[in-house]
Amino acid sequence: MKWKEQMLHLRAYQPGKSIEEVKREYNLNNIVKLASNENPYGYSPMVDTALNNFGDSFRFYPDGSAQTLREKTAGFLDVDQNQLIFTNGTDELVQIVSRALLEPGKNTVMPTPTFPQYKHNAVIEGAEVREVPVVEGRHDLSKMLAAIDDETAIVWLCSPNNPTGIYMPQTELRTFMDSVPSDVLVVLDEAYYEYVDDPDDSLALIDVYPNLLITRTFSKGYGLASFRVGYGISTAENISRLEPARPPFNTNALGQLAAAAALDDPDFVAESRQANAEEKEKYYQFCQRHGLSYFPTQGNFILIDLQCDGDFAAEFLLRRGLIVRSGAVLGFPTCARITIGTKDQNEQVRHAIDELKQHVAAQPQGDLA
Ligand SMILES: *Cc1c(COP(=O)(O)O)cnc(C)c1O
Repeated sequence: MKWKEQMLHLRAYQPGKSIEEVKREYNLNNIVKLASNENPYGYSPMVDTALNNFGDSFRFYPDGSAQTLREKTAGFLDVDQNQLIFTNGTDELVQIVSRALLEPGKNTVMPTPTFPQYKHNAVIEGAEVREVPVVEGRHDLSKMLAAIDDETAIVWLCSPNNPTGIYMPQTELRTFMDSVPSDVLVVLDEAYYEYVDDPDDSLALIDVYPNLLITRTFSKGYGLASFRVGYGISTAENISRLEPARPPFNTNALGQLAAAAALDDPDFVAESRQANAEEKEKYYQFCQRHGLSYFPTQGNFILIDLQCDGDFAAEFLLRRGLIVRSGAVLGFPTCARITIGTKDQNEQVRHAIDELKQHVAAQPQGDLA
């Protein structure tokens, strides 16, 4: 078959282990999943109310333009309706943007480590990928700027960055945007926007920099990951260029309904942010007490250097029913990325890290037995 050459070398996305898998494999009853940065407090009760009133229209295609959700989101953000594109999670938006702009001969600039889907989609489109290493978890914006040339079509920024949690202050972003050629699309992924303490008004920058596209999602702070609803905000012109690359019925009816209802409950999101802020402080104190370095985070996850092999650490925690993401696959080989859970879950994690530290001190070669 005539596969694109790059498809012969790509691997499908490897999700972390599911709760059910861990229960079965390790013969455990209580599993805590802290690997994908889902909201540990669930989602707004208003979502349940809306879903219960959905009725019996499953046989109909959803509204391809997501009109109700569009109107609500536009009002919520104070942007025009035609400045929004709704997608099956931000994942699909990354795919749509890549499809619309990348091809062989073009290149795309991104930090590394960061969210892996930017690179993955660029490779599928046959574009050259220019990865600029982060410095202490931060985007190296001057090196990223230097990597841009006439063939650059997209620059990816992720703030707070996954997996480091570092937030990019708006002064830095503005200085960067001032120097990026106006025909290069800059995508700013704000998947964790709802968790940022005192965030800057990034949307206001779209009026200043028409080559800026901001992405947000209902998967993280709103706690609706399973519904797969994300969106992009840019100029009406950019959005109308992207729209033809969007599949006709890409967001489903229940997802649209759930997301719209979630916007009615900003208190839920604010409480999640507050609880997250309190819990991350306890991780900081724990790390300081134990001499473990970490990145101060503006997301609902924390990257901690556990001073041993990340895969080993993840497996050690898994045996105690705690699913976290090994830093080995994220570009930080001695770290783990841990979603900040509820008070109780975080205490379990810290207890397990205590045990891990003792274990490693006694058996430095990392024997699990
Ligand atoms: C989780 C995450 C996404 C994906 O969000 P979906 O809307 O669920 O597809 C996008 N970007 C970053 C940085 C993320 O961590």
